[in-house]
Amino acid sequence: MGNRTLAIIKPDAVKNNLIGQIIKEITSAGFKIKAMKMVRLNKDSAGGFYEVHKERPFYNSLVEFMTSGPCVPIALEKDNAVAEFRKLIGATDPAEAAEGTIRKMFAQSKSENVVHGSDSDENAAIEISHFFSRKELLENYQ
Ligand code: ATP
Ligand code: MG
Repeated sequence: MGNRTLAIIKPDAVKNNLIGQIIKEITSAGFKIKAMKMVRLNKDSAGGFYEVHKERPFYNSLVEFMTSGPCVPIALEKDNAVAEFRKLIGATDPAEAAEGTIRKMFAQSKSENVVHGSDSDENAAIEISHFFSRKELLENYQ
């Protein structure tokens, strides 16, 4: 069981001014922020990040959405971080997400669902290094 995960506050949430409210939910749930930035992804970066979904019918629209405006990747730490964070954000489709989850509270649709969470410890490590250099992480680890 690892203790790190990567969250992304997606472009729909940034556009709708939800950064503060979402971070409040994350920190209230006991996650520590280890590194954070606001970036606008280009097609290569978003496409690479979601490479596992390359063959899926929604891949192109997913890349278009993730490049539509700035997003906020955040490296988070908590015991059992991957599972705990996915529990906090809820199901991919907000219509199916449990009451009190971030997607239930703030998301509009299955494609525009306000937040990303890593799905395994292995992917969490890969995804954190997609956005943060060793130096950026070490500087924030006190
Ligand atoms: P994420 O990886 O962003 O945390 P997830 O793990 O809940 O989400 P995935 O199956 O990994 O869901 O899908 C990645 C993203 O692709 C979803 O968050 C959503 O934005 C989009 N997506 C997934 N399935 C669909 C679909 N059927 N139609 C449209 N968009 C979809
Ligand atoms: Mg996923």
